[in-house]
Amino acid sequence: MKDITNPAPDFAALHFAALAAGRDSRRQSFGLRERRAALSALERVLRANRAAIGAALRADLGRPEAETDLVELLPILSEIGHARSRLHRWMRPRRAAPTLAMLGTFARVMPEAKGVVLILAPWNFPLMLCLAPLVSALAAGNAAVVKPSEMTPATGELLARLVAEALPADLVRVALGGVEVAQALLEQPFDHIFFTGSPAVGRKVMLAAARHLTPVTLELGGKSPVIVGPDADLAQAARWIIWGKVMNAGQVCVGPDHVFVHASRMAELRAALVAEFARQGGDIPRIANPRHHARLVALAQDAADKGATVTALGADDPAGLRLAVTLIEGQGPEMAVATEEIFGPLLPLIPYDDPMQVVAQINAAPKPLALYVFARDRGLVDLVTSRTSSGSVGVNLTVMTFSHGNLPFGGVGNSGMGAAHGQAGFETFSHLKPVLRNWASPLPLVFPPYGARVRRLIGAMVRWL
Ligand code: NAD
Repeated sequence: MKDITNPAPDFAALHFAALAAGRDSRRQSFGLRERRAALSALERVLRANRAAIGAALRADLGRPEAETDLVELLPILSEIGHARSRLHRWMRPRRAAPTLAMLGTFARVMPEAKGVVLILAPWNFPLMLCLAPLVSALAAGNAAVVKPSEMTPATGELLARLVAEALPADLVRVALGGVEVAQALLEQPFDHIFFTGSPAVGRKVMLAAARHLTPVTLELGGKSPVIVGPDADLAQAARWIIWGKVMNAGQVCVGPDHVFVHASRMAELRAALVAEFARQGGDIPRIANPRHHARLVALAQDAADKGATVTALGADDPAGLRLAVTLIEGQGPEMAVATEEIFGPLLPLIPYDDPMQVVAQINAAPKPLALYVFARDRGLVDLVTSRTSSGSVGVNLTVMTFSHGNLPFGGVGNSGMGAAHGQAGFETFSHLKPVLRNWASPLPLVFPPYGARVRRLIGAMVRWL
């Protein structure tokens, strides 16, 4: 397996060819039992290496081990458990009842493995965003090449070792390296590409995929707003908002980006956020690298220069690349923070009087990946849910729309396309193949030549069907 770390020009082609070679035989032999065994092997190796995983994430992102357990390991293990126990149902061909014109036929939908898939992952949840899609890909019976982000090298190398230990090299390969490796892989005719990352790179992935007409799932980012209603439980809102900004230092695709708060509750929410940060903000992971740290500092500075009040809720540690949750009040449309995905612990608080103003602002911006409402009143929740479009909606919580095994997860418009997790993830990596069997179809009665009797029958069909 040493060759997997070698970004020689033709290594991507070799990876692809090695996995594609087994495509036909896998179709025969990679049944329920084998898929479950692969998932169990992955689970075993993850459980056995919990400490090593914690250490890798500590090295790459300064992440506390408890947070790594919660936001990397747990989602993968629950994805594995969920898939393993339901796989027999997902794989089973589903009957489709005949429509009138199809009387005399028998129809089934057979989920079929797509073949060899490519999974490209970002750095912010470097293990989970490689392995959660891999679980779905394996459950659906595919072979896969997984490319973790070059920005989290300790996790990438550990992942390559764990995958090589758990799974055969003709089923899954981990390709380590940077953008040039991703580009070399994108040259290959994969059967599906599952990309998680920024909208800008998502466009490039889709362009590359077009060359082979490879279907893509794009799990992208964007600005996920929070709306705090006039009757919201503010202690609850503050708890979830601060959690979304402290977790991974706010470098979370579904993290709350900015908060629209009813003007009558602005002061109270601010106080609740200050108190909640004092409670949760002890051990914040660091910003991924100096470039992102400088980007966030510049965003806050730009807002301050243009008249916003910027308040850090704790001490910053520039040398350690650590930032406290930082409130931005008085945000204006000319500030970069109003349009750029923040992806960090800055938190604009924007007062509103009329919820329709908020709806209009959300609809004027690219479609968010997630949208959160804190309210007791169903009216505000229904208004926002029905008048805006977003990948998902969370009510009285943040982030968790990502984690529900029975809910599809994905974006819409600028925040992505396609769905992940559970059965939706299984179907993403499957071709749902219709098989239609004729046992007594009367349709030959209307085959040519179109004599008077056939024309009458067709006329009756047009009238009655
Ligand atoms: P990124 O788009 O820079 O990189 C993602 C992957 O693409 C990496 O593996 C990288 O090597 C590869 N890549 C980079 N440039 C490439 C190119 N020109 N051609 C081909 N591949 C290339 O994203 P990132 O900075 O690692 O992650 C942050 C972004 O990801 C944010 O926008 C965030 O919102 C988004 N995100 C989305 C989700 C989701 O589930 N929807 C989850 C996490 C992060």
